[in-house]
Amino acid sequence: ISAEGRGVASISNMLNITRIHNVIAAVASMRRMISLSREYARRRVAFGKLLKDHPLHMQTVAQMEVQTRGAFLLLMETVRLLGLAETNMASEQDQLLLRLLIPVAKLYTGKQASAVVVEAMESFGGQGYMEDTGLPVIVRDTLVLSIWEGTTNILSLDVLRSLTKSQGQVMAVFFSAVQKKLELASSTAKLEPAVKQTRDAISSLAQFMQAAGSKGAETMELAARDFSYTLARIYAGALLIEHAARPDASSTDISAARRWCSQELCPVAAALENSRYEAEEALADSALVYEGSPACGSRL
Ligand SMILES: Cc1cc2nc3c(=O)[nH]c(=O)nc-3n(C[C@H](O)[C@H](O)[C@H](O)COP(=O)(O)OP(=O)(O)OC[C@H]3O[C@@H](n4cnc5c(N)ncnc54)[C@H](O)[C@@H]3O)c2cc1C
Repeated sequence: ISAEGRGVASISNMLNITRIHNVIAAVASMRRMISLSREYARRRVAFGKLLKDHPLHMQTVAQMEVQTRGAFLLLMETVRLLGLAETNMASEQDQLLLRLLIPVAKLYTGKQASAVVVEAMESFGGQGYMEDTGLPVIVRDTLVLSIWEGTTNILSLDVLRSLTKSQGQVMAVFFSAVQKKLELASSTAKLEPAVKQTRDAISSLAQFMQAAGSKGAETMELAARDFSYTLARIYAGALLIEHAARPDASSTDISAARRWCSQELCPVAAALENSRYEAEEALADSALVYEGSPACGSRL
């Protein structure tokens, strides 16, 4: 038992492990559902041909595949850093990166997994909803991953705490780690668009940090979720690029990196530009939520 008031600090190492286990469960759920979905598509005939021969169906499953590959690499990177830390081989930079990436990976893969397994359930049509296929159990068990071990919002606030506690050092390490990965891809022409999109996202993120730094803590709190999503998307993008730049990389490794990086990699900058983190917007949030609520009467 810890000293009074030191409870959270004393269990924080355990939280690192259980949160990484959560990431493993998220990746495993996505992979399991996609494996079942792609096999089903080789057998089920709809509208005169196998599901696998409907390009729109394949596009849908491929989107899930890209999400899962990004999540898998984020998991492996976190586990690599944990391995270094547990064997006393982690540099100070490794430790800072691990501190940042654990909540980022947990919150992001939890959300990805919820979205992917629901989409995968739909890929079985009505069968996906039937209890005796076993699919709804996988979906239900996956949905808890964004709730326990800290919800998305709570972990986003933890990401901010890692910035404050390290006086911004975690971000310096983050930027440098991403840049190094992108440099590895400098001679792979097919990865050029992905590298450019990631570099653009990094500079938007740096601009966001500068702009947010001159505003109050409320701005960062309102931005916490988008900020964490931004870190996850940029870091996973850099990992996919690094992976696709290996000499023995496959063409699908390159496709996965390109597709991942063509999504909005820096949602926090776009939202700041739209004034989403201003105090009036927070008031508008409450007004939107409670308009018409009989319990609130005219208080809002
Ligand atoms: C199946 C299951 C098993 C569990 N097992 C364990 C266990 O073994 N041990 C254990 O200790 N716990 C366990 N839990 C508890 C779990 O960790 C908590 O339910 C989870 O952390 C969410 O906390 P809460 O339920 O108190 O939600 P609340 O804190 O009430 O959160 C409700 C909502 O408000 C949001 N919210 C809360 N505070 C803020 C804030 N400051 N800013 C923005 N948004 C906020 C949250 O994101 C969430 O969406 C388990 C939960 C489940 C569902």
